[in-house]
Amino acid sequence: MNSTVKIKSAIVVALLLSLTGCNGRQGNEKIISVTIEPQRYFAERIGGDKFTIHTVVPAGQSPETYDPAPQQMIRVSKSLAYLQIGYIGFEQAWMQNIRENNPEMKIFDLSEGIELIHGTDEADGADDHRDHHHAGIDPHIWSSIRGAKTIARNTLSAFLALDKEHTPYYRQNYNRLMEEIDETGAELAKWTSLLSNRTFIIYHPALTYFAKEFNLTQLCIEMDGKEPSPAQLKGLVETAKEHQTKVVFIQQEFDRKNAELIAKETGCRLVTINPLAYNWSEEMIHIGKSLAGDE
Ligand SMILES: [Zn+2]
Repeated sequence: MNSTVKIKSAIVVALLLSLTGCNGRQGNEKIISVTIEPQRYFAERIGGDKFTIHTVVPAGQSPETYDPAPQQMIRVSKSLAYLQIGYIGFEQAWMQNIRENNPEMKIFDLSEGIELIHGTDEADGADDHRDHHHAGIDPHIWSSIRGAKTIARNTLSAFLALDKEHTPYYRQNYNRLMEEIDETGAELAKWTSLLSNRTFIIYHPALTYFAKEFNLTQLCIEMDGKEPSPAQLKGLVETAKEHQTKVVFIQQEFDRKNAELIAKETGCRLVTINPLAYNWSEEMIHIGKSLAGDE
């Protein structure tokens, strides 16, 4: 969406907010806004029935490019707080607008304390399919065990800051969630330890932190957020053959054409994954099992 349209829709939102007098919170519904569904998973695990978690980027939409509808921005403005995932495209584009329109709202950055992966600028032939976010920070922090634990810890701190009264309740939920994350980690360690081949292909580079954590190599089809050129596709097929890659991951919000072509050319299995799925641990285990050929 170009900037004029963005400004227009921001003005519409501001207007609607002032008309509906939504700058002040109403009723006793305690709303917390988050950007993506996995955040809602962690927040609901810790917050239980104390908060209503509102996800701005709906399932099936790309959080790199999504622009919110006015009614979503109204729901954001009714929120006590906003939990940012950190560096994702949607937040880069809209957080300033959200901050300006809701000066009282508390904003927490859940990526705080995470060892961020920065893309590199030095593309050198076959390797330019790795580490995709040239010169940028890879925002996909939630698709790793370390990332999930940091997000959970920061979510707990946010809830304690917002609602000290229920500290024991949140802490108990948090401890249970940390156990669940550890169990997921153990499952993933089991599945990835079985792998004879540690390279996988993926359309959009959503598993950079996962790959680093489990000592895997992620080769990306998408280049700088765009479809690859025929030459880049050819290069990727060669690299995949060199590495005897077995799996091509494709996310539901992206075009399957090139992934299907590469799978055919390299004899890889084509597996649909959804790193933006609500049920974080189920999806992570699906990814681990798929790599090991068990799904
Ligand atoms: Zn992404």
